[in-house]
Parts: sequence; C-alpha cells; structure tokens
Amino acid sequence: DYDLSQLGSQMSQLTGVRAIMKDIIETLRQAGGREFINLSAGNPVIIPEVEQLWRDCTAELLASDEYGEVVCRYGSSQGYAPLIEAIVNDFNQRYGLSLTDRNILITPGSQALYFYAANAFGGYTEAGTLKQIVLPLSPEYTGYGGVSLFKEALLAYKPTLDLDEKAHRFKYRPDFSQLVIDERTGCVILSRPCNPTGNVISDEELTKITELAANQGNRNQVPVILDAAYAPPYPALNFTEMKPQFGGNLLHCLSLSKAGLPGERIGVAIGDPELIEVLESFQTNLCIHSPRYGQAMAARAIASGKLGHIAENVIRSYYQNKFTVLEETLDATLPKDVPWFLHRGEGAIFSWLWLKDLPMTDWELYQELKKHDVIVVPGSTFFPGLKEEWQHKHECIRISLTATNEEIATAMRRLASVVEKVYSVT
Ligand code: PLP
Repeated sequence: DYDLSQLGSQMSQLTGVRAIMKDIIETLRQAGGREFINLSAGNPVIIPEVEQLWRDCTAELLASDEYGEVVCRYGSSQGYAPLIEAIVNDFNQRYGLSLTDRNILITPGSQALYFYAANAFGGYTEAGTLKQIVLPLSPEYTGYGGVSLFKEALLAYKPTLDLDEKAHRFKYRPDFSQLVIDERTGCVILSRPCNPTGNVISDEELTKITELAANQGNRNQVPVILDAAYAPPYPALNFTEMKPQFGGNLLHCLSLSKAGLPGERIGVAIGDPELIEVLESFQTNLCIHSPRYGQAMAARAIASGKLGHIAENVIRSYYQNKFTVLEETLDATLPKDVPWFLHRGEGAIFSWLWLKDLPMTDWELYQELKKHDVIVVPGSTFFPGLKEEWQHKHECIRISLTATNEEIATAMRRLASVVEKVYSVT
C-alpha cells in the first residue's frame, strides 16, 4: 500500500480505449478454443515491404561508422541532426517551404508531444486562470483524454453531421456556430485524418480554425496542434485529397508509428521556433531526448525517399482496400430499413459506424458482438473532453482495418445479422 498524490492517482488511471483493452485482453485470454475476429486493434499491420525497408535501414546503420555515435552517446534534446536535416530537406522540397533545423523537434512518439503541448499551453496560468485544451471536433483520438495534468482543461465540441440517408453514409464537420477559441483557450488539438472516424476535415475548415486561433485581437495567438499521425507524406493514409498546412500558429505533428515504426517511438513537431523551444525544454526536463537508434534508421528512410515512396505506393492502398471490403460487405448485408450510417472513409486505419436509434448502448452491442466472436471498440470511449450528454455517443462503434479481407468480410456479415436482430426486437 502506497499513498499517491492527487496527480499520481489521476495518472495511474487508464482512460478511454486503454480501459476497454483490458476487457478485450481478458476476453481473448479466456477464449478457450473460440476464434475471435479482433477488429479492435490500433497496431498497424506488419506489411512485408515496410518491414523490409526498416530491416535494410537497420543493416546499413549497423555497418556504418555512425553506429557508436548513435547509440553510445547522448545527443541534443532537439533530436538527431541527420534526421532533422532529412525532414527539413524533404518537406522543403515537397511543399515549397523554407524550414530550417530550428523548426523541428523530435520526440519519443507523438503521444509525448501532445502531452508536452497540452501541459505547456493548457492548464493553470501563473495568475491562476484555467487555459482550455480545445478539441474542435468530437469524436477524437482517445489518447487526448489523458494528456492534461488538469482534466478540467479538456474541452471538446459536438460536430454537425452531413447525412446521406439514401447511401447510408455520413460525415462530421466542425460546428463553427458553437466553437469558441478565445482568451480562455490555451491550445487547440485535432487529428487529420482522424482516429477513430477516418474523417479528413477540409482545407478550408482547418484554415478557419487556425485563423480563429491566430486572430485574438491584441492578445497572443493560440497554437493549433495538428496531429498528422495518418497524413501525407508518411504514412500517407489519406484516401481523399488533402493539403498539409504549415506555418504561423499551426504546429504540424508527424508520427512514424503508422509508417511501420511504432516500437521505435518517433514523433516530429514542425513549426514556429518559438513553439519548438518551449516543447524542447519540456522534453529536456522529462527525458533529455528521444532514443537515437530509431532516429538514425528514420533519417536513412526519409533521405533516400524510400519512406515517402512506400507510404504512397504500398501503405495507403493496403488500408484503402480494406475499407472497400468493409464498405461493400456492409452495403450488401446491413438491412436498408435500419438507420445505419458509415462515416466516409477518407483516411486512417479505422472505420466508424453510427447506428441511429440503436435500441441498446454501444457497450451492450459490443458485448453482443463478442457472443458472435467479433470484437470492435464501443464508440463512447472516443469523446474525451465532451462535457454534455449526447445520445449519439452511445450509438457508434470503431472497426479496425488491420484484419485480413476475409476476417473483415466475415465479421461484417455477423455484425449485420446482429444489428438486424437488435432492431427487429423493438
Ligand atoms: N495520434 C493519433 C490520432 C493516433 O491514432 C495515435 C496512435 O494510435 C497517436 C497519435 C499516437 O502515436 P505515437 O505512436 O506517435 O505516439
């Protein structure tokens, strides 16, 4: 028995999807001979070409004179210089930017970056006022639920819904009639493409958010932390056109996790040197710097152009094909008279299904699907920071695109028959 601080007890709780994962792991452990189709996973698939790229980069590193420098010495907090240089060159060339090394920070995974940003810009000021961390479009990445040391700082906004009733499709949009970004806002965070929904908010919508955050009268501007974990140029998990945005108050944040390197923990922030310096100091205090082994591998993969090439030509189509299998199976098997709506599959490695007027909760549906050996994630875990009650929260599920085509098709057929039964009871 140990006494925990208030922060200690808060940070030792699991939030959102991590809490569900416990139930899933338990279910799989007690499966006996049953074969579950697990569509809860957020772990990317090990695609052979991608694994080979990282294997080659490792082999080159091991064979080079650089090896000792990389693993036997401390480095700078900002990151490993060859990786920073590779990113600067690649982004300048792709997007016509004029970045220098002062615009870049490497972190041990992008989750760490959101933790630094949420606490550097959100929470209590020296004067004691609470600065909010605004999530402009809920549902959002469940990992934002635990990033702030002050839970009360997180504030999410309900979206508006674009419905296509005939096609059984929908799309969330930011609700600019409700969204407030003002002197109470410390920072804004959003994922694009979005986990869990696969949404890509439009270039205009993103511009509108960054402008709202920049134009604070004679006050300082509010940073917009743009989570590009699924965006181009790597992993390029966008299935619709999207233009990455840079500059001003927007901090563009990459992750190499979905480009096949989640175990090496590499996140990258690109933006205003003033923002980078704040986050870099935060990192120095926390962990000195990111491990350099993965950074040295990544420097090679990026500088050679191979990572960008594989992302566009292998990773993107791999998941896009999975979405097609899922959507075609649902179209063919879900009853037309049930008000089901699949979110437009615009990117990421998940799909999001809304079952309007579902006669049970999302948690009960999750349990029901488990009885048919299918595991999904109940949607209500993906609304961190949403303070108001909203029936919609309990009518959605997240379905991972990391299973095989056959598994996805079989699971969606089972889901369709469960859904048909559930609605016909009422
Ligand atoms: N942001 C989003 C939207 C994610 O889906 C994930 C991981 O699933 C992360 C951030 C965390 O990624 P990283 O491995 O870079 O910490």
